Amino acid sequence: MWCHTCKSEQPHRRLNAEEEERLKDRLAKGHVREYVICDAPGCWHVRTGFSQCAGTGGRHIRLRPDDLD
Ligand SMILES: [Zn+2]
Repeated sequence: MWCHTCKSEQPHRRLNAEEEERLKDRLAKGHVREYVICDAPGCWHVRTGFSQCAGTGGRHIRLRPDDLD
């Protein structure tokens, strides 16, 4: 699957429970099961099967573990 941050094809995985909770907070959504995360080291970019960026308007969302924004 194409990663918009890596600008290359990268493996993606489902979010773990902790990442799902943080993405729900970021998106103010009740369910985030359609989202996958780039598995490249240090990337953390989130997308769905339909949209290359999880954020509204194509905004990047990266679930970096130490991300504070
Ligand atoms: Zn990536």
